[in-house]
Amino acid sequence: MQYKRILLKLSGEALMGNRQYGIDPERLAEYAREIKSVIDRGVQVAIVIGGGNIFRGVAGASKGMDRVQADNMGMLATIINGLALQSALEDANVKTRLQSAIKINEVAEPFIRRKAISHLEKGRVVIFGGGTGNPYFTTDSAAVLRAIEVHADVILKGTRVDGIYTADPEKDKLATKFDYITFDDVLKKGLKVMDTTAFTLSQENELPIIVFDMNTPGNLLKVASGEKIGTKVNL
Ligand code: UDP
Repeated sequence: MQYKRILLKLSGEALMGNRQYGIDPERLAEYAREIKSVIDRGVQVAIVIGGGNIFRGVAGASKGMDRVQADNMGMLATIINGLALQSALEDANVKTRLQSAIKINEVAEPFIRRKAISHLEKGRVVIFGGGTGNPYFTTDSAAVLRAIEVHADVILKGTRVDGIYTADPEKDKLATKFDYITFDDVLKKGLKVMDTTAFTLSQENELPIIVFDMNTPGNLLKVASGEKIGTKVNL
């Protein structure tokens, strides 16, 4: 395996499968199998999960809701997803811990960095819920922050497209994929990988990001073993 410790970022929307809202249990089970395949090879896995399948703060704010109130709802949505993913992983016989950035002690452990690292060393998947615990941030920022904090080797951003393209491949048929790209080129070309706060944090801390298609079985294992799929963003 090329990577010893990975931080997998999954968006909330990915959990919807073909639904319009909420969680598709089959998709969750598929993801659990994928994650188990890398755990079985001794890779340490931390996960940050989004909440967009349930609630996004910006969407609430655009309809007149107070932004902080709306973002609090979004953070709670990530904890719901974290609990769902935890169940699916446990059904697949993977040991997990859910750590939350906001206090919700009956439901999840609080985020304690040293404890998270210790869980990872014991082969437990650590799911980080609640984003960064602050409004006005995204779970992409949480992913980068947690990756740095637990000394992950790489951020694996699992999406439904197989990498970073010159343009949106779902809209532009002529778009071509990058195998590698530098942080600077992503910014220069105005490509969308993560929001700017998250992306800059990753760049400043020299933490590579690999964007790959998480919905093709076997891909997570391929990425973790160093196979060249997806797009790698590096210095
Ligand atoms: N959120 C937040 N602070 C954070 C992370 C998330 O307030 O540090 C809220 C925000 O409202 C966001 C929602 O939680 O819209 C869900 O997260 P995100 O949109 O990143 O989920 P994804 O797009 O990955 O599904």
